[in-house]
Amino acid sequence: EPGRLRLIGQVVALLANYCWVELDQLGPTGLSRLLCTRRTRLGKSGQTIAVGDRVWVDGIDWPAGRAAVAALEPRQSLLERPAVANVALVVVVVALAEPELDLLQLTRFLLTAEATGRPVQLVFSKADLVSPDEVASWCQRAAAWGYDALAVSTSSGEGMEPLLQRLAQPGIAVLCGPSGVGKSSVLNRLCPELGLRVAAVSGRLQRGRHTTRHVELFPLAPGALLADTPGFNRPRLPADPVALGPLFPEIRQRLGLGCCRFSNCLHQGDPGCAVGSDWERYPLYAQCLSDLLLDGERTGRVA
Ligand code: GDP
Ligand code: ZN
Repeated sequence: EPGRLRLIGQVVALLANYCWVELDQLGPTGLSRLLCTRRTRLGKSGQTIAVGDRVWVDGIDWPAGRAAVAALEPRQSLLERPAVANVALVVVVVALAEPELDLLQLTRFLLTAEATGRPVQLVFSKADLVSPDEVASWCQRAAAWGYDALAVSTSSGEGMEPLLQRLAQPGIAVLCGPSGVGKSSVLNRLCPELGLRVAAVSGRLQRGRHTTRHVELFPLAPGALLADTPGFNRPRLPADPVALGPLFPEIRQRLGLGCCRFSNCLHQGDPGCAVGSDWERYPLYAQCLSDLLLDGERTGRVA
């Protein structure tokens, strides 16, 4: 009985009362994307659906391309504000020029990415605007911080193939970074059918599309999805100053070689500190730490 068939897929976009589910397999009409309502059962048990969730759908009406979400698979992870479930990779994008690369801003984005606990990929965009030597020098600096960086240009196409290969792994990758660095351009270049998809969604459900701006996932390869994350672009620091250090790969690496004398060491020249200050981003760590301590005082949090 086709109406009772259950299929698994992934929520790729949320609308007011519906969601789009990309099925793992093609249906009999060649369709892989269904517009789904949510069963009240899910709501009553307190389960909310996030973009990226693996879901089972049933009540499939193939000619209409409609179905209902019947059940939710357990989540591997959930990023908040905006919610994206099952993220496999966080990609931090910064431009090498226009706007000029701001190391403190980049560090704050890297910290926000690290705070998710997911693997982090650094991407330097607009590589066409600087010399090859400058590109190489930034990649070397990033390697010394502990990041494998890719330099790309959507204008020249440089680095786009390696980036696609890095992203075309099973799971969801999210792009974040300051505005104007070329995230939308990267997304458009990697997902050629993106313009079509957005048009199709807004055409079918005008109201839903325009009332809320949600995250949307775009297929890159089978099982590989790329998210645009509108709200993830404001960097956030952890509330606990002791939690800041391990978000720097440089500090993680040094703490792997030896412990500080005090477990609550803030690595500011404290006696018996194993971290020291002989690394490039140390002043940025100190800056972020002092911002965080000031913020804690201002909001009355105990530092
Ligand atoms: P977003 O705000 O991060 O999504 O950035 P956009 O994709 O909207 O790009 C911002 C501006 O940078 C636009 O004017 C793009 O044309 C330009 N841009 C994007 N990628 C490149 C690039 O690789 N090289 C150069 N020179 N300009 C780019
Ligand atoms: Zn220390």
